[in-house]
Amino acid sequence: MNHDIDIKKVRINCFRQSKVPGEFMLMLRVPGALIQAKHLSMVQEICERWGNGTFHMGTRQNMDIPGIKYEYIDEVNKFIKNYIEEVDVEMCGVDMEVGDYGYPTIGARNIMSCIGNAHCIKGNANTYELARKIEKLVFPSHYHIKVAVAGCPNDCVKANFNDFGVIGIHKQEYDIDRCIGCGSCVDACKHHATGVLSLNANGKIDKDTCCCVGCGECSLICPTGAWSRGTKQLYRVTLGGRTGKQNPRAGKLFMNWVTEDVVLGMFGNWQKFSAWVLDYKPEYLHGGHLIDRAGYKVFMKHILEGVELNPEAKVADDIYWAENEQRGNMHVMPISEHKPCGPQE
Ligand code: SF4
Ligand code: SF4
Ligand code: SF4
Repeated sequence: MNHDIDIKKVRINCFRQSKVPGEFMLMLRVPGALIQAKHLSMVQEICERWGNGTFHMGTRQNMDIPGIKYEYIDEVNKFIKNYIEEVDVEMCGVDMEVGDYGYPTIGARNIMSCIGNAHCIKGNANTYELARKIEKLVFPSHYHIKVAVAGCPNDCVKANFNDFGVIGIHKQEYDIDRCIGCGSCVDACKHHATGVLSLNANGKIDKDTCCCVGCGECSLICPTGAWSRGTKQLYRVTLGGRTGKQNPRAGKLFMNWVTEDVVLGMFGNWQKFSAWVLDYKPEYLHGGHLIDRAGYKVFMKHILEGVELNPEAKVADDIYWAENEQRGNMHVMPISEHKPCGPQE
């Protein structure tokens, strides 16, 4: 069948074009990757009624429904209205009108997370709750951003390969009187983490606090409770990670030992920063490239504007990436070849 298809419009509604002419794949958002199981029967119904009967686990933890014919998209959009209402508006508190037109934008990608401390014994943070709070701040917006939340530095969700990777950590607390000098924490830290613990001549523990990553392996293994996770929920944030054909790279440590308020304050500035870099003109550009275009120091100034850092917080003075889109390369690339950022005269 010959279709007069507006691919750009349906793409904005989170339908991806198929290699089969006239077919599309719906990508349902699942912020934080945890929802009520009842939604699965709705997904099955869409797959069987309008799709080709198959289902794909999206690589960004979306629920993907392939094989939807173009002429069914309006019907499917009406059908998912309740899902969007329940998941994005009620569960995440996103401020948006939900109509019969489906998703209002594809911009900010699904916020991914591992199961975190809702299940995992290594989890330092409730990942899905934080992911939902981030969803509220970055969606709906046309600005492209990829965020993932990991419950601990194991980073099963590969937060390091996102524009922003948020990782749950704690400052571990040591009660010397409870320590029996068994050495289990020394071994655990060495095998699973950074090897910063050692047993001293008194049969107690010494720690190189500088390189502790706050993972909690020591607290997990300690048989007497001498180590315990601190009560203050903290995070590390990595920046500028990405996959892709052009300059894939792991993120670099941007902030360490920051509170949830700092993390959310930072995401609260994302849309403003993106608009500013693009001179308030609609242009589709991946979030990581916006950071590159601004350069780290300018990015940092904008993204932390009005954000009050907690006393333990550490923020990178500078970050160096090697790609040729990065402002740090201005010494090896004529300034005239750098793309502009911010309002132009
Ligand atoms: S990243 Fe940590 S908390 Fe999350 S699933 Fe992996 S081990 Fe568990
Ligand atoms: S595991 Fe606990 S008891 Fe054993 S050496 Fe470490 S702190 Fe002490
Ligand atoms: S929290 Fe620090 S000391 Fe404990 S296992 Fe992890 S890196 Fe080692």
